[in-house]
Amino acid sequence: MNWSDRLPLANISVVAAQAAIDQYARPLSVVSKCLRELTGCVLAQSIYLERDQPPFDRVTMDGIALASDAAPNREFIISGIQAAGAAPLTLASKALCIEVMTGAYLPVGCDCVIPVERIRSDNGVAYLNDDVQLSAWLNVHRRGSDARANEEILKPGQHLNAVDIAVIASAGFAHVPVHATPRIAVISTGDELVEPGQPIQDWQIRRSNSYALLSALRKHGFATLTDMHLCDDREQLRIQLSTLLEQHDTLILSGGVSAGRFDYVPQVLSEIGVTCIFHKVLQRPGKPMWFGSRDDGKTVYALPGNPVSILVCFYRYVLRGLQRTMGITKFPVQYARLGSYAKAHDKLTCFVPVKLVDDAAITMATPLPTRGSGDFISLLNTDGFVELPASDALIPSGTIVPVYRW
Ligand code: AMP
Ligand code: MG
Repeated sequence: MNWSDRLPLANISVVAAQAAIDQYARPLSVVSKCLRELTGCVLAQSIYLERDQPPFDRVTMDGIALASDAAPNREFIISGIQAAGAAPLTLASKALCIEVMTGAYLPVGCDCVIPVERIRSDNGVAYLNDDVQLSAWLNVHRRGSDARANEEILKPGQHLNAVDIAVIASAGFAHVPVHATPRIAVISTGDELVEPGQPIQDWQIRRSNSYALLSALRKHGFATLTDMHLCDDREQLRIQLSTLLEQHDTLILSGGVSAGRFDYVPQVLSEIGVTCIFHKVLQRPGKPMWFGSRDDGKTVYALPGNPVSILVCFYRYVLRGLQRTMGITKFPVQYARLGSYAKAHDKLTCFVPVKLVDDAAITMATPLPTRGSGDFISLLNTDGFVELPASDALIPSGTIVPVYRW
């Protein structure tokens, strides 16, 4: 669906808001990153194996290597030691064996490894225990048995985890191309806000939203973060937001997007070239949420300042949008079963904070409603929130609903 003909969208559904973000949050350019920086990144090209895997016939036990057709011989003179990482030795005769270590190259002329626990050695001679039977390729991890050189082992779009990174390293790559991770500015707005640690008047409020957002961002691997506070001053907002937009891929604002006299954020954003994609979503909390995009692909999320709203909007929309800019395309929804009934709203999707208990098969979510979007103290006992569709009936206990964890 193309939204651009009817922008800005107003009072849209949660599903439409998510779809609009999906359309405008585009993968960033491709950059080369080293192995230590790959966690959580999305691969931008295929990875092919450098060599067969394993690259040689690999010894899998500490013991002796010999020729399996040496039978009926049961005693072997130990003619050398083959350590892991050493160039291969050669077995000179079937009357001999070579002491071998796990991970070593199987010496040339050998095809069988007997573990040290199953032999007795005395004076340079290894004696096989009575129950040992020789057979070809015993305790040998054969060359190419896992994968072949030049095989495509990872495809573009792979969201890299520890296993993938191990395989990339084993394929010999020190750097790989991935989508860039967004540079993000977190901006609080509001004349009433005072930094923690500073003296405060009765009528002022602690600046807490940015710390929640920065922590959530760091937890999800976003490390290039700017933390900024701006007053409710149109001119200052215009100058500073314009500069921040040049230096970052995404801005996340809190406060100043509602209908108050000093809520300048939407107006200022459009003045600096950010097109409003939507303003106001049929949801509670977080109804005044604003989302925009600039021609160069930069995205701006302006969240209503109430502390519960910013958290809900972050986990429901912003995180997904940021992950899309990193090239992530799959967002499996998690579900939980309501542990008690929940009250919905007849026209709005409700995000209700919950306590989660992991049962054997499914997570149980018990609603712990707050006293409104400004009551973030109630969130202390919660683990996330559930999404309840608009309904004029109570949602019964046991209903399966989407869940988002803090
Ligand atoms: P606003 O969206 O600017 O109208 O703010 C809504 C409510 O959230 C007001 O009570 C603000 O004081 C509060 N608020 C706004 N920004 C923050 C912030 N960064 N930290 C804590 N509370 C905030
Ligand atoms: Mg404000």
